[in-house]
Amino acid sequence: MPAIVIETQQNSIAEELGIEAGDEILKINGKIPKDYIEYSYLTACEELNIWVKHKDGTPEIYEIEKDFDEDLGIVFKSAVFDKIKPCTNHCIFCFVDGQPEGLRDTLYIKDDDYRLSYLQGSYVTLTNLTEKDKERIASMHLGPLYVSVHTMNCELRAKMLRNPKAAKIKEHLDFLKENDIPFHAQIVLCPNYNDKEELKYTLNELYKYKNILLSVAIVPVGITKYRKDKLTTIDKKKAEECIAIVDEFNKKRKSYPVCLSDEFFLIAEQDVPPAKYYRGFGQIEDGVGALRLIKDDFEKRFKKCSKKLKKPARITFGTSKSAYKTFAEFAEKLNTIENLTVEVVKVEPKFWGKDISVAGLICYQDLVDSISPYKPQNLVIPSVMLSPYTNEFLDGKSLDDLKSALNCNIHVIKDIYCTSELFDIIRNLKK
Ligand code: SF4
Repeated sequence: MPAIVIETQQNSIAEELGIEAGDEILKINGKIPKDYIEYSYLTACEELNIWVKHKDGTPEIYEIEKDFDEDLGIVFKSAVFDKIKPCTNHCIFCFVDGQPEGLRDTLYIKDDDYRLSYLQGSYVTLTNLTEKDKERIASMHLGPLYVSVHTMNCELRAKMLRNPKAAKIKEHLDFLKENDIPFHAQIVLCPNYNDKEELKYTLNELYKYKNILLSVAIVPVGITKYRKDKLTTIDKKKAEECIAIVDEFNKKRKSYPVCLSDEFFLIAEQDVPPAKYYRGFGQIEDGVGALRLIKDDFEKRFKKCSKKLKKPARITFGTSKSAYKTFAEFAEKLNTIENLTVEVVKVEPKFWGKDISVAGLICYQDLVDSISPYKPQNLVIPSVMLSPYTNEFLDGKSLDDLKSALNCNIHVIKDIYCTSELFDIIRNLKK
């Protein structure tokens, strides 16, 4: 994918020059950047030339003078401008492989690219690292990386990733250690594979990397209704078992943060732990600590908000299974505000199946089916239900389609870990 501009930041050099969405950056000082890492390196200077192909095909060269570390203000469609490094595994739990046919092409992309890990926090297995990649990681000190470890039992890892190269996990982590590259580790917990004694072994082995290991996140395997194998997801007993293993481990190794994702506590019917459990929320994007963050934020803001609306108004939260309980608690409090009625609807993930509990996989049709009986006035949904930089749901329908189908105002919360937008919506509610 070439270096396509998706937007330019306000008052930036790029905006001033007239660089626009759809333009393509061809070269910087005569060099073709292969990814955002190289682009950042090439633009860290005081004088530069940029070769641009405008979206109508017109070429243009800009000569720029700027401060050494001043950003040009360009946002790219993709952080990788050459070919994304594809995944060479066939993990037993692969979500991409567990999708039905006929969805958007981008949903079938199986990437495993250390550059996206460094730049955007995507998880990588390190099974496709070449010597050249390793040299680049070491020389440019590209960290932290987010590593899908799953297990430190080499044989089991090769079996779970269905790739003999996956057995080299210790070798790869040793490479990170030798080069002082920090990393976050992820474990997708699959019952009867990497649970129980295997989980204890993995946590103990990972501890050997404690000087560069920033956090360990454990998430449950997600099973869609399209999977035909015998893989099972976690139940209450398994969730309690994992919580006990992690608690015991954390008690012994005080400075080593192992955190379970929110689903474990929801399935075990326990409250999510206090903020200090998450020690900096290093893997928040993986759903580890998201509920604690938003709950604490809500409490602070609710105390300060006005407890009366000028006119009666109603809002409806469309939530995933995992966020439902938290939003029901919010609704109970918000309903004490005079003139405000709040209801919460748990959206049934019919498209993917009942075991899918996250908001990011809720489709347009699921929303319409679950929400329309409530005839909402103002529907509030999180931005993760939409594909990044678009107004499109996973099943290809848009926010405008949703607005027409439900005939109501739709409010999309951009920052899903903070409730400031929610209180802004309430403050500005119209009948
Ligand atoms: S690493 Fe595994 S889970 Fe991720 S895309 Fe590849 S096969 Fe799927």
